[in-house]
Amino acid sequence: MAGKKKTAVIIGAGPAGLTAARELLEKTDIRPVILEAEEAVGGIARTICHNGNRMDIGGHRFFSKSPEVVFWWYNMMPLQEQSSDTSDEVFLKRPRKSRIFFLRKFFDYPVTLSGRTFANMGFSRTIKAVGGYLLALLHPRRPEKSLEDFYINRFGKPLYRMFFEHYTEKVWGIHPSALGADWGSQRVKGLSVWAVFKDMLAKKTGRKKGGKVETSLIEEFIYPKYGPGQFWEVVADKIKAGGGEILLNSRVTGLDVDDCNVTSLEYRSKDGSINTIDCDYVLSTMPIKDLMAAIHDAGKPDDVSRIAAGLPYRDFITVGLCVKKLKLSGGRVSDTWIYIQERDVRIGRLQIFNNWSPYLVGDNENTVWMGLEYFCSEGDELWEMSGEDFIKMAVDELAGIDIISKEDVLDSCHVRVRKAYPAYYGSYYELDKVKEYLNGLGNLFCLGRNGQHRYNNMDHSMLTAIRAVEAIAGGKTDKSAIWAVNSEEEYHEG
Ligand SMILES: Cc1cc2nc3c(=O)[nH]c(=O)nc-3n(C[C@H](O)[C@H](O)[C@H](O)COP(=O)(O)OP(=O)(O)OC[C@H]3O[C@@H](n4cnc5c(N)ncnc54)[C@H](O)[C@@H]3O)c2cc1C
Repeated sequence: MAGKKKTAVIIGAGPAGLTAARELLEKTDIRPVILEAEEAVGGIARTICHNGNRMDIGGHRFFSKSPEVVFWWYNMMPLQEQSSDTSDEVFLKRPRKSRIFFLRKFFDYPVTLSGRTFANMGFSRTIKAVGGYLLALLHPRRPEKSLEDFYINRFGKPLYRMFFEHYTEKVWGIHPSALGADWGSQRVKGLSVWAVFKDMLAKKTGRKKGGKVETSLIEEFIYPKYGPGQFWEVVADKIKAGGGEILLNSRVTGLDVDDCNVTSLEYRSKDGSINTIDCDYVLSTMPIKDLMAAIHDAGKPDDVSRIAAGLPYRDFITVGLCVKKLKLSGGRVSDTWIYIQERDVRIGRLQIFNNWSPYLVGDNENTVWMGLEYFCSEGDELWEMSGEDFIKMAVDELAGIDIISKEDVLDSCHVRVRKAYPAYYGSYYELDKVKEYLNGLGNLFCLGRNGQHRYNNMDHSMLTAIRAVEAIAGGKTDKSAIWAVNSEEEYHEG
């Protein structure tokens, strides 16, 4: 029948899925239908509202070295030009400040070679750290087989032990000696004592402008006035206004394959009913592990299914905590987030949402609204703890390291996030075989963080979506450009 539009079913309304839908509407005549398992858009970059306070799942900086992505952002939402501007749909320019909390003291992040660092560490730790660093410089480099080798080569053993060993294990649940150097090193790629020193020097001499700044050291970013979820809600509204469809509470449970193409999808609605939708294209941002399990294809190789089923993930829990004041520096700090490196607590990071945007906080003047971040694995002790017990434990921890007083707590909430981090160990090293199989399904395009099993930022997810729509618009089934997106891997906070 002439004139009938083709349909692209997009799995997931996170940054990748929403970007893909918008691009399809702008650049093709294909109708996007997004199936989203949750009841809100934004994916991991959504903003949660709790009793008048808004919080991210981890703080979400909008930062990209890709002009294409930055243009896309500003095309959706302008930057607030002046603080007197009262518009609500704007990006704010925000200063980044993050420090390390260790030995009940604040250290610069990344660690600087300042007098304060040495004073905080004390005489004997300083001597050890400097000695260890010089030893690492003078000694032949260790072959970089593990993340531990990577850190020791750049920082020396004592600094590695103080600032990286325990924290890395907290985040990934695995000791750095058992993690590949290629993977975790993305987090601090380009970072070394020398990079930190150069940055300090540049700041002191004012020669930083125009020069290349290591992305781990970026000090300014843009941020939607009401959090990242606001931005993605604006995009979702534009998609709906442009004729796209977004079905919330719709979890994809099956994909039917015929002759190397996906012909239809099954999804479960909130009421438990199973529905079917036909498709011409599928753009998937759901985890590869789940996607492979959902594919009904007689030709699916067992080995590929085994690899996908073994893909590792790290899960995440955040506690929103509203307090009257902090026990630190007169009740407030100016950090956007703080890395907690104390050994006696399980919390990994502390977000101070007032400093991301004062508009996130119901009563910004009189309260401090925080996100306490814990890294865990589905089914482990932290994951299984009830919300109430978890909050109690989190409050005890924060009070125990003298950041708050328990009696100042006003409100709290507890949020679990499955598969927040695709991890790079185990069967990840065989991912190419899964990619090869998935690429062979002509009308299926895998995008985004879990969609490509890539520890990424929003800009990477968006670029994979843009490349996928380009391929579809050009009638191509070659997916290599989508997998090859490589947006500044150095910068990873979350
Ligand atoms: C703690 C933390 C902090 C971060 N900080 C930053 C930051 O500062 N800056 C930055 O740029 N990035 C940051 N990120 C990364 C950012 O969140 C991701 O890059 C981005 O959200 C990935 O978008 P996506 O669309 O690929 O995936 P997701 O955001 O994961 O979205 C996927 C969507 O698919 C849905 N879905 C899954 N399975 C199904 C199914 N079967 N059926 C239907 N729907 C399904 C999910 O519900 C979800 O909505 C951070 C991440 C974390 C965890």
